[in-house]
Amino acid sequence: MKRSQQNTFTSTCCYCGVGCGVVINKEKNGSITLEGDKDYPVNKGMLCSKGLNLHYTANDKSDRLLYPQMRYNKSMPLQRVSWDDALERTAAIFKTFIDKYGPDSVAFYASGQCLTEEYYVVNKLIKGFIGSNNIDTNSRLCMSSAVAAYKIALGEDSVPVCYDDIELADCFYVTGANPAWCHPILWRRVEAHKAANPDVKIIVVDPRVTDTCSSADLHLQLNPGTDITLNHAIGRVLIENGDIDIDFVTNHADGFEQYSKLVFERTLAESSAICGVSESDIRLAAQYIAEAKGFITMWTMGLNQSSVGVNKNLSLINLSLITGHIGKPGSGPLSLTGQPNAMGGREVGGLANLLPAHRNLANPVHRAEVEKFWGGKEIAAKPGLTATEMFEALNDGSLKAIWIMCTNPLTSLPNVRLAEEALKKAKFVVVQEISNKPETLAYADVILPAAAWAEKEGTMTNSERRISYLNKILDPPGEAMPDSEIICRFARKMGYKGFDFKNAAEIYAEHAKLTAKTNIDISGLSYDIIKQQRSVQWPYKKRQAAPGTSRLFTDKQFYTATGNAQISAVPDKHSSEMPDDDYPFILTTGRIRDQWHTMSKTGKVNKLNQHIKESFVEINPADAAVLGISEGDVTIITSRRGEARVKARLTEQIKQGVIFVPMHWGKILNNDLHRINNVTNDAVDPISKEPDFKYCAVKVEKYKKP
Ligand code: SF4
Repeated sequence: MKRSQQNTFTSTCCYCGVGCGVVINKEKNGSITLEGDKDYPVNKGMLCSKGLNLHYTANDKSDRLLYPQMRYNKSMPLQRVSWDDALERTAAIFKTFIDKYGPDSVAFYASGQCLTEEYYVVNKLIKGFIGSNNIDTNSRLCMSSAVAAYKIALGEDSVPVCYDDIELADCFYVTGANPAWCHPILWRRVEAHKAANPDVKIIVVDPRVTDTCSSADLHLQLNPGTDITLNHAIGRVLIENGDIDIDFVTNHADGFEQYSKLVFERTLAESSAICGVSESDIRLAAQYIAEAKGFITMWTMGLNQSSVGVNKNLSLINLSLITGHIGKPGSGPLSLTGQPNAMGGREVGGLANLLPAHRNLANPVHRAEVEKFWGGKEIAAKPGLTATEMFEALNDGSLKAIWIMCTNPLTSLPNVRLAEEALKKAKFVVVQEISNKPETLAYADVILPAAAWAEKEGTMTNSERRISYLNKILDPPGEAMPDSEIICRFARKMGYKGFDFKNAAEIYAEHAKLTAKTNIDISGLSYDIIKQQRSVQWPYKKRQAAPGTSRLFTDKQFYTATGNAQISAVPDKHSSEMPDDDYPFILTTGRIRDQWHTMSKTGKVNKLNQHIKESFVEINPADAAVLGISEGDVTIITSRRGEARVKARLTEQIKQGVIFVPMHWGKILNNDLHRINNVTNDAVDPISKEPDFKYCAVKVEKYKKP
């Protein structure tokens, strides 16, 4: 059927950081259908199961919050109120806390699903006008270790490659990631490239046998947590065999000598024993890397979510640096972002230690620049509370009020029962949400209904620095409104100037102006250009032409103090909670193919729920036999923090001594026993403050009915 142009729109998938383009058709009855955008450079028409079913979540309004709600004290039920009443009372309470306890008594906890414009205004509000840096997001749980490592190694939080480098690479080193399930469209590009070029090598590093392993030439099934040992061992073999780029490490990098000394402190046999990977496989991995003209590393939460996540990242980036595989076609580190706009959030400075355009909060010149631009209060030098710190501060009473937008911390935070206690103790909780499902709503003093994907316009940035434009296609239901509009209205109720934006384009324009002359400069990129081009990669300076900058560091000039990349001799130390007699198993968590995060969107789609209907624990049959556990038995998984009950799946695909449970399930009918984050550890990396979701000590027992 021929459609009129005005009923066809383009947008970007709102799930993972791959950032696939979609074409959306608006039907006569007001609902939408969609398909992959054949002209979009990221996905070339392909969509994964989650993207293909995105329209169901947009069309189904049955769970939507429709109007603001508020209660006047904790013992009262929530009741419907007007937007003015909700925002005026919230502003009055925030002002009271700020006056009495200081600006650090309030905080905003946002999300990598917010659009860039939404992130911009909330960051401006708290840092520039309230006078606190207490804004953090669930991106802290996702990419912050990679961000810190990029800054150390390259001088900037910048992914050097573009997706088109995939088709130019000869060797992929995929570690701490299962892209076949979690970044499927990018992985299809890798698989298609390998199918057309059988000499292309894929090395997968994972303690589990995942779907990604089915395409691998080499699966290194390492012991959990031993990534640094393995990367150093591969580095050692590369050096030993003379397979390094002498020109690069001599003229464009610092730290090679120290690194070289460090990786030779262990013999290959010692490293092999620690990792549980044979010496011959370590040598083969090094050989594949050495033979490659184009070498790409891909990773995500398996490295990031660790108490040594930054060091794991640095040990991996080292492999690209010592071989000189950066700043040239088909080569470089490619971190796979979990959320659709975690990168856009960082571009506007939406983390507790950041300022707009990746400026550094610790730098007084940077603070002064932003202060002058915003014309509000002096920007505080003290970093704000990070994700887990916010909930600790609610627990100890130093934080009085929290505003949670677009995220579901009572499923996603580690040691989550502590976070639940924190919300019980909080003096004032605002929840800005689209759905009536998240557990946080039970603790809200004010509920603000937000517009969802396709109901608002704005921009997002995917894993390859590609800024894309998302159209508004549907009207939000009831009185729901875009997050940026909610924040701006609240800021005006607080009496702040500079929040009278007429639309998302005006917010974007202010953000773009603030990036001028920074490393992520998009001052030449107007909203009109993005809308016309659909997407552009940053930087995009004044007078630059579309499509922006596809590849960074082609001139081998890095953003570090010396201009050289930094090879880091990171210690091969592990600081996770180790198994012992009481808690003898290692728990690792992750995602499944057809669910996304805490399932508030994908969980609505029947088709997606058919893939895996309930949570489970993967356990090796040898371990299960010792514990008397059979397939399908309910198990109790207990750590020093809490317990979860899930059914056993016996599989050789996981090593003995290790169990895996998906992270998606939260409370079901008020029962939190499927929630594995009751059990996970809230220890964090000292630099990135990213929690250690991938390693903690647990015991596993068969559940016996009392
Ligand atoms: Fe959406 Fe990611 Fe799937 Fe692409 S790969 S369709 S961005 S979930």
